[in-house]
Amino acid sequence: MATANPSADDLKLFSLQQKYQEEASKRLRSDGVSQFIELEKAGSTRLNALAEDPWADHAALNNKEPIKNGATYKFVILGAGYAGLVIAARLVEAGIAGGPDDIRIIDTAGGFGGTWYWNRYPGLQCDIESYSYMPLLEETGYMPKKRYASGLELREHAERIAQKFELDDKALFRARVTGARWVEETNLWKVEIAEGRGPGEETRNLSVQANYFLVASGILTTPHVPKIPGLEDFTGPIFHTARWDYSTTGGKQSDPSMSGLKGKRVGILGTGATAIQVVPELAKWAEELYVFQRTPSGVNWRGQRETDPEEWKTKIAYKKGWQRERQLNLDSFLTYAPKEVNMVGDAWTEMEAYCAIIGSPTWGIIEPTPEKIGEHVGRLYKLDIKHSEGRRARVDSIVEDTETANKLKAWYPTWCKRPTFSDEYLQTFNLPHVHLMDTNGKGVQSSTPKGLIVDGKEYPIDILVLSTGYRSPAYGGGNPVVRTGIDLRGRENKSFNEKWEAQGATTLHGVCTNSFPNLFFAPMAQFGSAANNACTIDVAAEHIAHIIGQAEKKAGGTAVVEATVEAEEAYAGEILRRAAFLAAVMGCTPGYITSEGEFTAAGQDPMVMMKKSRMSGWAQGMEHFIGMLQEYRADGSLKGIEVKKAV
Ligand code: FAD
Ligand code: NDP
Repeated sequence: MATANPSADDLKLFSLQQKYQEEASKRLRSDGVSQFIELEKAGSTRLNALAEDPWADHAALNNKEPIKNGATYKFVILGAGYAGLVIAARLVEAGIAGGPDDIRIIDTAGGFGGTWYWNRYPGLQCDIESYSYMPLLEETGYMPKKRYASGLELREHAERIAQKFELDDKALFRARVTGARWVEETNLWKVEIAEGRGPGEETRNLSVQANYFLVASGILTTPHVPKIPGLEDFTGPIFHTARWDYSTTGGKQSDPSMSGLKGKRVGILGTGATAIQVVPELAKWAEELYVFQRTPSGVNWRGQRETDPEEWKTKIAYKKGWQRERQLNLDSFLTYAPKEVNMVGDAWTEMEAYCAIIGSPTWGIIEPTPEKIGEHVGRLYKLDIKHSEGRRARVDSIVEDTETANKLKAWYPTWCKRPTFSDEYLQTFNLPHVHLMDTNGKGVQSSTPKGLIVDGKEYPIDILVLSTGYRSPAYGGGNPVVRTGIDLRGRENKSFNEKWEAQGATTLHGVCTNSFPNLFFAPMAQFGSAANNACTIDVAAEHIAHIIGQAEKKAGGTAVVEATVEAEEAYAGEILRRAAFLAAVMGCTPGYITSEGEFTAAGQDPMVMMKKSRMSGWAQGMEHFIGMLQEYRADGSLKGIEVKKAV
């Protein structure tokens, strides 16, 4: 930026960056992630109860016994969300699982779906188009009803996958995996489980053994709330969006007619991707709606529409392998490597600078020198101007009241928070009964029995909806095991969490790690990143299936598979070599991407920064990453992985 004769464009960019910095500084807090408390650990009976499963059919589940205490299964999968299901499906498809009976799935939820089981709030849809997002559409032959599927359709699709791969009676629900230990003598994982059996019933503790243990515990699974003084004393109903309380609002997921809100003053806390979908629905039924905002989200156009069966046949599901082609086509527009034809053509494909957090093949590897990083970050900010200004102009074109419009404008670059999409949210603020309670970046101060306090003033409400998100996926340095809360022990009783804490992310290809044989995890750290999580999941599932399949071929039966220390350190080197690409995250407004600013805090010990950087993704985009994996897999030698025949 510091040129002798800056152009008008340079000056504009400079003042924009300054504005972004000012807005981010307003929100930076010394307490980082500890400003929040997980609902389950909130220490108040009232808040703890908000984490309970409202959906489980205990009577039906108590009649089933999908897992026998003490039994041994070839594959035990933690998590019945899309990742657990896709991993299971790819294992069956590749013939590695002799059949579905080789597989057992365990989840704390009462059914399949993960995210789509827990979240049933009105307005819920996938934000990536369903044709690219809904897993295994080719295998299940399913045509999504709409361009963006509803939460209900997404959950039903999880059930469809389970049925298609005959996994529907292979899952133990309402069951928490509490620990797992590699037993050297038997070459088996011993997995400890606590099965809840409904109100008033005793928890059943059981353990099973597995040749292979797969952890697919999700990224946004633990709902949390800000530690707002007095919150538990609020006298009206209160609930989190991840456990929508239809008994208070009226309606149900399939028909969210919320007649229970008639005549009520409803407050919603938070304005992230969830609130953008919920607010228009609440506004249809509440007498008065108060939207408490700390940071406005950038809201893009949506363009929802029904799927046209003719288009589906001829242009979307038009050949074998269409879904991966479509996923990568979408990805190309987000990684600044656009393909000639834009198959998806929605607002995602207008965000060239989103590559700042998922990487791009376009500029090669960025040298980690201050000059090169500065140049790279400047280029990204420049690339983002059109989009971020467009988002702000969109607010002006929709919201009638100028003061409200100004408060709804997002002052951060596109990559700092999950982009949101709605053709209704901004319009809602033109309604006389909808009130934007902007807190100028400070957040709600406290709660009273009757309402919330902002800037010293009490705003009385009858019902409070917490749309305050989840524990950050970056929690614990992107550790996939600490997120599940399980105690995982590998060879010689080595703790997975201690290894991750001491070394930072340490994996081979994001899916396995030394000292933990036959353990695989759905990745986040050290893997290809994509806006479409379902694409990431499928790429990982294929890779895991390949490794196990090849290992079994080599071993001539069940194998013991373990990444070597040399291979995982060399791989960490490859991740770090590319990590400078992601430097633009350093200027971000706090949010879960930066662990509420903890990741980007200035003045950190270089060793600590290095450890944190190891959790980066492969910063040359998903297609490049897949290319690297394919090259690795081509000769089938499993370089960097030791394989033995299991005892
Ligand atoms: P999850 O679906 O989270 O499943 C993990 C499961 O593991 C959970 O059911 C959990 O109960 C279980 N579990 C965790 N720990 C334990 C334990 N110790 N014992 C037993 N079970 C355990 N991504 C997109 O790409 N596009 C979207 O549109 C999109 N929309 C989203 C909307 C919402 C509201 C949220 C919260 C996330 C969204 N995401 C979206 C991200 C979404 O989480 C992923 O796309 C995907 O569904 C994750 O699947 P998963 O199987 O990895 O994890
Ligand atoms: P987020 O973490 O994105 O949002 C939480 C909200 O709560 C933010 O607006 C945050 O403000 C606000 N908040 C936190 N503390 C306070 C406070 N003390 N006072 C006032 N406001 C506060 O959670 P979401 O559930 O919205 O989304 C989580 C993720 O789930 C998304 O990013 C996305 O990945 C996924 N998702 C996808 C959807 C889709 O479209 N399919 C829908 C929903 C979620 P601040 O920003 O200042 O921290």
